[in-house]
Formats: sequence, C-alpha cells, structure tokens
Amino acid sequence: MVTESPSSADRLASAGLRPTRQRLELASLVFGKGERHLSAESLHEEAIGANVSVSLATVYNTLRHFTDRGLLREVLVAPGKVYFDTNAGDHHHFFFEGTGELIDIPADHVTLSKLPPTPAGAELSRVDVIIRLTAPKA
Ligand SMILES: [Zn+2]
Repeated sequence: MVTESPSSADRLASAGLRPTRQRLELASLVFGKGERHLSAESLHEEAIGANVSVSLATVYNTLRHFTDRGLLREVLVAPGKVYFDTNAGDHHHFFFEGTGELIDIPADHVTLSKLPPTPAGAELSRVDVIIRLTAPKA
C-alpha cells in the first residue's frame, strides 16, 4: 500500500477527478518524487514494487486522465514512446536518444525567432521543442 498524502486527494479534487483508491495510489507515486518524466511502463513497475495492484492498462488510462485534466503533460519523443511529465508548465526538453532520458529546459531558455504562419483557421496552441542528443550524458 502507498500512503495517500492529502495533496494527492487535493490534486485530484482540483482537477475534477473522482478520488478512487487506484487514482490516489497512482497519484502518490507519480507526484511523490518531485518533477520527473514517467512512462506508463515505469510507473507500472513502481506500482508493483509498492504493492499497488493495478494493470498496465489502468496505469495508462489513469495517466491519460491526469493528462486530460492538466495534471501531467504528455511528451511524445518517438512513435509509441510517450513520457508523462509532472511539470505541466511550459518548458522544453533535451532528449538523450541513447538512454531515452529527458531533461527539462526552462521555457525562457529557448527563443523562437521565426515560426511559419499557421494554416488558415488554425490557432497556435503551444510549441514544444525537443533537442535530440546522441552523446551520452556526461
Ligand atoms: Zn519536462
């Protein structure tokens, strides 16, 4: 069992999510270790390690709910390779292609000097920059 911190319940309530036991347990795991980038698979392994009985599908669905409600941000680094980011604010990423590791880049550390005009009728929602690195992390 994972100890449910009050902040997990508050977090779910503020996002309008019903605080089911599984959501509370997963929220404690997701948000209890500071800012980080998680895959559904790695969270599932953490859940098993913490004796939280939950399927990978439920983990994935829960992460998706958290993302839909703005608690997490989805970072798609490659087809089929999705990270869930506990830092839901605007920022960019370094991505180490060799290790799959993501590191945050503060939003104001990237200056976009020229963007193409958006297609007719479309509005710019957000620009995510992923700087892909081949060298191993020093
Ligand atoms: Zn991030």
